[in-house]
Amino acid sequence: MSFLEYAPAPEARSILSLRDSYGLFLDGEFVEGRGEPFTTISPADESHIATIAHASEEDIDAAVAAARRAHTKVWSKMSGRDRGKYLFRIARLVQERARELAVAESLDNGKPIKEARDVDVPLVASWFFYYAGWADKLDYAGLGADPRSLGVAGQIIPWNFPLLMLAWKVAPALAAGNTVVLKPAETTPLTALLFAEILQQADLPAGVVNIVTGAGATGAALVRHPDVDKIAFTGSTGVGREIARTVAGSGKSVTLELGGKAANIVFDDAPIDQAVEGIVNGIFFNQGHVCCAGSRLLVQESIHDEVVDRLKTRLSTLRLGDPLDKNTDIGAINSAEQLARIKELSQIGEDEGAQRWTAECAIPEKGFWFAPTIFTGVEASHRIARDEVFGPVLSVLTFRTPAEAIAKANNTPYGLSAGIWSEKGSRILAVADRLRAGVVWANTFNRFDPSSPFGGYKESGYGREGGRHGLQAYLKGAK
Ligand code: NAD
Repeated sequence: MSFLEYAPAPEARSILSLRDSYGLFLDGEFVEGRGEPFTTISPADESHIATIAHASEEDIDAAVAAARRAHTKVWSKMSGRDRGKYLFRIARLVQERARELAVAESLDNGKPIKEARDVDVPLVASWFFYYAGWADKLDYAGLGADPRSLGVAGQIIPWNFPLLMLAWKVAPALAAGNTVVLKPAETTPLTALLFAEILQQADLPAGVVNIVTGAGATGAALVRHPDVDKIAFTGSTGVGREIARTVAGSGKSVTLELGGKAANIVFDDAPIDQAVEGIVNGIFFNQGHVCCAGSRLLVQESIHDEVVDRLKTRLSTLRLGDPLDKNTDIGAINSAEQLARIKELSQIGEDEGAQRWTAECAIPEKGFWFAPTIFTGVEASHRIARDEVFGPVLSVLTFRTPAEAIAKANNTPYGLSAGIWSEKGSRILAVADRLRAGVVWANTFNRFDPSSPFGGYKESGYGREGGRHGLQAYLKGAK
């Protein structure tokens, strides 16, 4: 079977040779955790995938000590050129094991295999290739006279792009000479553990990357640890706030990549077919579990009905179902908890007076599912216009003038991303200039590239990941 031809679930799953249980990855070895192990399940059918070790506070101590030793004795002494060789090796191993990683990600997260295969895993490899190229060029990055690593980085990631978020954090940290203790999300630990196997295959020196699985308390122990020099967190704004409070005054560096409520602005001169595809990709990609999702559609009043009709027609063609089937467009919601949140906010949307439309889909009996949903008649004051749903739910608002579009787009405590659809380049540039969003896409949406910095304004966090800016967050005195 070629890489591009995935079979339906049973065969796709058979290309994985998973262990029954996974330990923590400490100092280059898999070891048992001291906490009570937990289970990771497939959100598509709630079946057991594997038993996962739970890191206790003592395990965090051991992981940080291993990372410190590796930093002092090996990694900070190694030349950038040699560090780069390891990163290139990791990137190539990710490519070699791409099929397996895509299936594991789809199984554990619920995302459609075609997204894991065409987006997540290729981007993971490209992130390692990109930062491998920087490792021996830090002196030329214009980041300061003598850029030096910070030391031990504690990295905490969410469940929506498990392996990609790992790559966004681990690749620049290692390129800049830091060592890492990484905590994946509790519902999606699998690909981080397969990544640990890749590190063994790559002969990465012991302790340079340590992976500690567990829930929020494990992450909190890592944040509090006195021998961690930097915390890099991607997740919810609530937890981000808590982390900012914990590290305040500790001298630790911190970067926070938090939530979003992006506006996708469609002007009446936009190429409509392209815009409809962009709106669908903007909010229904990865079931809307995307921090930069285009969850607020701001459409110019004169084309509102046409755009909404076309959207409904397009959504009716999407296939919801088995994430491992290559024909699936909409996979499973990652957890029962997330599904309950999406249902609650959608009910609030109806109660507050917006009109709900849901695509007709056969919902599988087991697992966690939510059909693509659009709310029209949404007011700026409605919760579905303000709160991050983090699911396949689009809120449609209208505007008459560019000034009104800009005011509505900026009327949010978040500021991660935005989209503009228009035929006029001058309008795109003028509007983009006034949007308070870290990333602005023009006539496209949800495009990622390792050379482009990514990050937010306001409650979407601070610091940038990606590009030269992504290195800055892992270097002492970098400007
Ligand atoms: P979350 O904040 O609940 O969890 C994220 C991670 O933090 C998990 O590993 C979790 O175990 C850990 N954690 C939980 N409580 C903690 C604590 N008190 N101290 C330390 N760690 C703790 O978020 P989530 O539900 O996993 O992810 C969804 C959120 O992530 C959304 O808000 C989304 O917008 C955001 N996100 C942001 C970006 C970005 O780049 N800005 C990217 C992806 C996701």
